[in-house]
Amino acid sequence: MEEGLRRAAELLSSSRQAVALTGAGVSTESGIPDFRSPGGLWSRYDPSEFATLSSFLRDPVRFYQLASEFLSVFTAEPNEGHRALAELEEMGLLKAVITQNVDGLHQAAGSKRVVELHGNLRECRCLSCGTVLPIEVLAEKLVQRGEIPPRCGCGGLLKPNVILFGESLPAEALREAFELVSRCDLLLVAGSSLMVSPANFLPPMAVEAGAELLIVNEEPTPMDAFASVVLRGKTGKVLPELVRRVKEIR
Ligand SMILES: [Zn+2]
Repeated sequence: MEEGLRRAAELLSSSRQAVALTGAGVSTESGIPDFRSPGGLWSRYDPSEFATLSSFLRDPVRFYQLASEFLSVFTAEPNEGHRALAELEEMGLLKAVITQNVDGLHQAAGSKRVVELHGNLRECRCLSCGTVLPIEVLAEKLVQRGEIPPRCGCGGLLKPNVILFGESLPAEALREAFELVSRCDLLLVAGSSLMVSPANFLPPMAVEAGAELLIVNEEPTPMDAFASVVLRGKTGKVLPELVRRVKEIR
């Protein structure tokens, strides 16, 4: 680990266009469940039965009953891992964070340029008239008034602005992520097992473009063999250590 940290810090501090790619592992330390982990939401409920756009439209009541498991997202606070990435951006060593998370904790920690591949939970949208409202409107209907499913003034269904299974990814975020990764000279993967699209094809794209790949994750990933450095551990522990080493050699 010691040698890996040193090498990772060297690579990071000599990079010019470093970009981070983060997944659920960064947020689990803030108490947000990883829905794909054993015991997580997806292991108890088949996402194809409620977390797709068509199942949402077919049975919005069931969707919102199960969505109570997401409520921790609204009270979660960023952790040391989020803060370390924000600090690297502040130091001029990180161009952007591309994330699979929808919780907004990178922004809460101070990251400025965040590309959200799976949408966000700050807003909701009416599926009939297209009105976009703050998520608090939806939460109030749901929690205070017990309105299930919550509806827009026009009567249409309100849906959180997160990307459900079977929905296409936000085109603008995807375009920005591709552009960042194709031009980066270092990709720092943190807290992602790299099993989910499009996160699973961003690291190969970076490696093909000649970028260094750093991976910080508790579990092995399919891209470990292509990485310059793999640091095994919790991102809330490893990333602050990495920032400390970077400061030492700058
Ligand atoms: Zn409406």
